[in-house]
Amino acid sequence: MEWIDCHNHLQDPRLMANLDSVLEHARTAGVSRLLCNGSAESDWEDVLKLAQAHREVMPSFGLHPWYVHGRSPQWRQRLETFLDRFPAAVGEIGLDRWIETRNEPEQEAVFREQLRLARRRQLPATIHCLRAWGWLMDVLREEGPFPAGFVIHAYGGSTELIKPLAEWGAYFSFAGTVLETKRERAREALRQVPADRLLLETDAPDLLPPEAFRPHVLRCPEGKPLNEPGNMAAIGRGIAALRGVPEEQMAETVWENAGRLFRTVWK
Ligand SMILES: [Zn+2]
Repeated sequence: MEWIDCHNHLQDPRLMANLDSVLEHARTAGVSRLLCNGSAESDWEDVLKLAQAHREVMPSFGLHPWYVHGRSPQWRQRLETFLDRFPAAVGEIGLDRWIETRNEPEQEAVFREQLRLARRRQLPATIHCLRAWGWLMDVLREEGPFPAGFVIHAYGGSTELIKPLAEWGAYFSFAGTVLETKRERAREALRQVPADRLLLETDAPDLLPPEAFRPHVLRCPEGKPLNEPGNMAAIGRGIAALRGVPEEQMAETVWENAGRLFRTVWK
């Protein structure tokens, strides 16, 4: 049985500082593909190097809404250069009304530019959406269709949005936090997503799953426990139980879906 972690940030310095053990934990757990998401201009080079050095690492380059403000005037050309060097996925990109210091017109303009870039190059996109669902739907409606598809990572939207989003080409990715019993809305969405649009992720080093689903916890000097891609298998088992399918079937479904969506970056 092989798992794919469809969304993480392996380039995070806290994971990089423990890279050998982090990759070893993933390997021994059967997590044999990792989709590493760049978030800011400053980490794209690290993402590319990780993908070049490790067969299991697949790269994605994008400007995350939290880092839109710090972009350089040449950010778009730089992004294109990375996509020229590797036909990766475009992400992590998106919209966020959770951060207090935000400039919404700026976020939206940068998001739209990256959606257009993905569409023009026929690459899949990875979308982050926090407290911005109506806004996201408006932008996607105007920017679509998206023949190369996109994924909404750590899906936190309502069940009502699944159908229209799926019609526009969406995949829905769930992280280990959906295993917390209090997350009723996300758990209901997880049950309703069509099997051919389901993806799974750790979002490591963030979104630490509940204790029963985290064989690996990285403890940093600052003390905050961190998530690892090696937890994907345990999370996948928990999510398979929530969907009422055998774990082998869950692993196969996600593998096939990821291979279809991320075909440009698959290796
Ligand atoms: Zn992320």
